[in-house]
Amino acid sequence: MADFVTRFAPSPTGFMHIGNLRTALYAYLLAKAYNGKFILRIEDTDQERYVEGATDVIYSTLKMTGLQHDEGPDIGGPNGPYIQSERKGIYMKYAKQLVEKGYAYYCFCTKERLDKLHEDGEIGAGYDRHCRDLPKEEVEKNLAAGMPFVIRQKMPLEGSTGYDDVVFGHIEIENSEMQDQILIKADGFPTYNFCHVIDDYLMGVTHVVRGCEYLTSTPKYVLLYDAFGWERPTYCHLPLIMGKNEDGSTSKLSKRHGSVSFQELVKNGYLPEAIINYMAFTGWCPKDTNEEFFTIEELEKVFSLEGISKSPSVFDYEKLLWFNSNYIKKLSLEKFMEMAKPYYNDELKAFADDEKLAAMVQTRISTFPEVNEKAAFVASLPEYDNELFVNKKNKTTIEMAKEVLEAAIPVIEGISDWNNDTLFAELKAFAEAKEIKAGAVMWIIRIGVSGMAVTPGGATELMAVLGKEESLERLKKSLSKLN
Ligand code: GLU
Repeated sequence: MADFVTRFAPSPTGFMHIGNLRTALYAYLLAKAYNGKFILRIEDTDQERYVEGATDVIYSTLKMTGLQHDEGPDIGGPNGPYIQSERKGIYMKYAKQLVEKGYAYYCFCTKERLDKLHEDGEIGAGYDRHCRDLPKEEVEKNLAAGMPFVIRQKMPLEGSTGYDDVVFGHIEIENSEMQDQILIKADGFPTYNFCHVIDDYLMGVTHVVRGCEYLTSTPKYVLLYDAFGWERPTYCHLPLIMGKNEDGSTSKLSKRHGSVSFQELVKNGYLPEAIINYMAFTGWCPKDTNEEFFTIEELEKVFSLEGISKSPSVFDYEKLLWFNSNYIKKLSLEKFMEMAKPYYNDELKAFADDEKLAAMVQTRISTFPEVNEKAAFVASLPEYDNELFVNKKNKTTIEMAKEVLEAAIPVIEGISDWNNDTLFAELKAFAEAKEIKAGAVMWIIRIGVSGMAVTPGGATELMAVLGKEESLERLKKSLSKLN
């Protein structure tokens, strides 16, 4: 058995929440960093919540992010099956063992009885332990009569139970605060509370890595380990991921803060590599370096238990955007074009294979859908107001625009070596000869060629992309508009 075994145990809900992805990432990285094993287990015992196709979302997310598991439903392994519903036959035996040892009991309470208890408000959402001390004969009689039952954990009534969490430190809960929770439901399925413990044990999981929502229920789980006489695993609960509210306060990350699923982020034009790189920092930071860019392979080397923080981390969408723009810039032009292509709108689709345009756009976007805004100038010269030629900083006027365009068009017509550098040099020389600031000339040409106040590049860059014929046609059209 490897001495460092982690697992990712998602419930198939249909999408991969950012928090779950962070759990998968950390469990994976810890396994790699400590030369261990990473197991994927699907927790689908809550049949009511079953969503068709949801496991595929899990597989594809792990694949796209490079979090390759060593064992799992799709690749097998020595501890299968790895889907809890396929393990249904395993759990009852263990629950019965606990009953025999006195750590669990059969409960025959009807739904009506429990509903009545809750209505009366006597015990909140809990259970009054009615069946906890039923005489053995009565239990056997009920079982023989085929009475429906659940199996509940028999919590100690006094004292307290604690454990040491790697991230959060010592956690201790009064036993009197713990409910006699259900281990096996009336339909024979185990609850999460029970089967994850059995599975973690049987699969040899040494380090349980998961969200901190389980921090205070873990004493119940360690009691199960103790009852069986099994060695407890090491617990590593991860800090909350918060979102920033408009008023500056923070609350648990939710839809109103932005996209909260991996699929949605990808759809919105984020690269899996950028998401993973950013997510590594939502609860961890490397030692002795300010480096922010890490590939998954690099993370595998530097990740450590000590670097995980218990303070809640705020999911910073701006920072993610920054990572994404950097990752987009790092793509080869070919790869960029291939990835950007599906995002072009109908008007711009025809330009998706234009290398010059792509190269210009690639360095100026943070997410793929922005290609449309940046590439818009290529479609056509829009209707625009001549006032656009007026610019305070460059001291340009409509009059001046007319003069500059009139004089510049023949110069531009004479340029045969059509590229940004040549165009820039020629127009700069033109400005000098005319004793006009280069900035003013560039402003006028840029407006004349694009009809837009904001463009993804300067005048000569736009012209290099548009080509000679189209550029001149537009400049002439703009000049006639000024006349
Ligand atoms: N199926 C649980 C969840 O998705 C797993 C919790 C755990 O890792 O133990 O929240």
